[in-house]
Order: sequence, then structure tokens, then C-alpha cells
Amino acid sequence: MNKIALAGLLPEELCASLSLSPSFRGNQLFQWIGKGAYSFDEMTNLSTELRASLAEKALIRSTQVSDVLKAEDGTVKLQIRTEDGLAVETVLLTDRAGRKTACVSCQAGCAMGCAFCKTGTLGLARNLSAAEIVEQFLYLEKYAGLLDNIVFMGMGEPLLNLDAVRKAIAVLTDKRGRNLSSRRITISTVGIVSGIYDLADKGPAVRLALSLTTADETLRRELMPASLSNSLHDLRQAISYYIEKTGKRVTLEAVLLAGKNMSEKNADSLIAFAKDLDVHINLIPWNPVEGLSFTTPNQEETEEFVSRLEKGGLNVTLRMHRGKSIAGACGQLGKTETGAV
Ligand code: SAH
Ligand code: SF4
Repeated sequence: MNKIALAGLLPEELCASLSLSPSFRGNQLFQWIGKGAYSFDEMTNLSTELRASLAEKALIRSTQVSDVLKAEDGTVKLQIRTEDGLAVETVLLTDRAGRKTACVSCQAGCAMGCAFCKTGTLGLARNLSAAEIVEQFLYLEKYAGLLDNIVFMGMGEPLLNLDAVRKAIAVLTDKRGRNLSSRRITISTVGIVSGIYDLADKGPAVRLALSLTTADETLRRELMPASLSNSLHDLRQAISYYIEKTGKRVTLEAVLLAGKNMSEKNADSLIAFAKDLDVHINLIPWNPVEGLSFTTPNQEETEEFVSRLEKGGLNVTLRMHRGKSIAGACGQLGKTETGAV
């Protein structure tokens, strides 16, 4: 019999799937899991008999940490192994102010095939379950203490695994458990138009980041095959709808590829795309990926591009390279093969 993975379940689902009664037992178990308990024996307010029966039927963690890699800048990457032997990665980022962010994966690999991204070269093995997503966060909290934010910017496309992503968010934000605020959650998407409308209409009302990369349609199609069925025009409308519906400013992300998406014309198209939208621009100099032939822009080129965008009235942040030495930066995830071990 397969054991039940508990980390992706809400209290009432814990009760139903484990036949727990009275119902407050579900809350107690949920609380222990959210607090990062590793074993049923830690759950001292549950009887010894109940703990023994839970241990027979259920798993507090369905995944295991197979490796921990640390960089000098404080970035930590955990390699996680799923029950069926897939490798996924989750990263802890600490900013200058000491705020800690979990960057979690939602798929093993990714089917989107963006030309500049390491995960894109792997293809998709499968979607992760809600439990497998929540467990990444719990492992990082076990490692680093309470975290401030969670971003879905690890491996995979969140809007193509929206059910599990929603479920993981429901568990992490539930007041009876970890009680994380939805303001501290960001979903980053390659730009799946239908998924953006779905999220806007049905929630949760989290922060949204669109990996725009470029507002030049031909170039975007070349770099990001997903844009063949998600045009810039439709994306812009979807983003505008998301902003209107949620009242939240959206982030437009662009990985900077020297000589590719940083010309004056590229800057002008980005300015035109962002015009009259409540957006913030987040630029990420390309993190080198072995086997991919792009170039990271130098400081001069980067500053020139930033200043063009700012002159065009845009609000721009340049994201630093964090975790580079352990390949724990954006787009470098997937060093370990996603095949079975
Ligand atoms: N699939 C989602 C979330 C994961 S990718 C998405 O594409 O948004 C997270 C971010 O990393 C995206 O903005 C993506 O454009 C960026 N990225 C991918 N490869 C990169 C690389 N090699 N260097 C820097 N950023 C990269
Ligand atoms: Fe997938 Fe995002 Fe990488 Fe594109 S950038 S291949 S969507 S993980």
C-alpha cells in the first residue's frame, strides 16, 4: 500500500484520508507538519497508539534531501529526491537586509524549452504534487528558520501545474498551520495566457511575475517557444486584466542576453509594452549554463539598457547574481539529471 503524503493536505483532508476523529486531531496534525515535525513521535499531544497507526499509513515527508550546497553569499541549494527517484531543486536566497526567500520548483524539468534556461534543456519528467512543493519549503525552514517569502521560480512552469501550486499555497497560507501571507508569494510564469486569467479569476491573489524577456515578438518566439501560442498582444491584455482584477502591480522579468535583447529597439519595445500598465521591471543578467551559447552582458551594456528603460519612465530593478557558485541561480537549476537513480 502506498503511504499517504501528508504535507499537501488541509486539516479536513487529513481527517478524511486518515479517518481521524474528533476533527481537532486534523488541526493538531496539520500544525505539527507546518511546524516542520520530522517524525510522528514528536507529536506529543497525539496518543502513542494514534502515532503508531499514522506511521503505518502516512508519510510526513514523501521526498528526501539528497544534497545540500552552500554558496559564499549565503545562498543554499537543496537537492530533493522524490519517491520515484526524480531530482528537483529548491533554493534559499537571503538578501542584504537578511530577508529569506524560498525559490521552489513545481515540476521535475520543464516542457517550455526556453533557449537560455538550464531546466528547459531537460524536458518535463512530471508535475510535482502539492506535498512535494510544500516539503521543499518545510525543508528550507528546517534549515534556515522561518522564511519571509516564497517564489515559484525554481524548476518548471507554475501555470501548467496550477492545481498543485494552488493546493500548496492553500496549505502554506492556512491560518491553522504555517499561516504565510499571500502577499509574500510570487508566481513567475513564462506567459501562459489562459493560466493568467484563471489565476486572476479564481485566485489566490498572489504576486505575479511575467518572464517577458523581450517585447519583440519575433525574438521572443525564437527564444521562448511557448510564445508561439501566447502572443504579446494577448499577454499584455492578460496582464492588464490581472492588475485590474487583483489591484496588484505585476513584475515583468527579463533575462539579459548580450547582443540579443538589449538594443535600443528592444528597449523601445519594452517601454511600449509597459506603457500604461502598473508594472515593475526586473532585469536578470544571464547566468551561464553549460552547453548554451549566450553571453552575460558586461556592466556598461547593462547600465546603458537600464538607463534607456528608466528614461522611458520605467521602474527598473537589476537583480544580482546570487548562488552562482552552486548553480543555484535562476535558470541554472537542473544540474542533476531528472532521470531515475
Ligand atoms: N517557468 C517560470 C518560472 C521558473 S524560471 C518562468 O519562466 O517564469 C524563473 C526565471 O528565471 C524566469 O524569469 C526565467 O526567464 C529566468 N531564467 C531562466 N534561465 C535563466 C538564466 N540562465 N539566467 C538568468 N535567468 C534565467
Ligand atoms: Fe521552463 Fe521557466 Fe525555464 Fe522557460 S524559463 S524553460 S518556462 S523553467
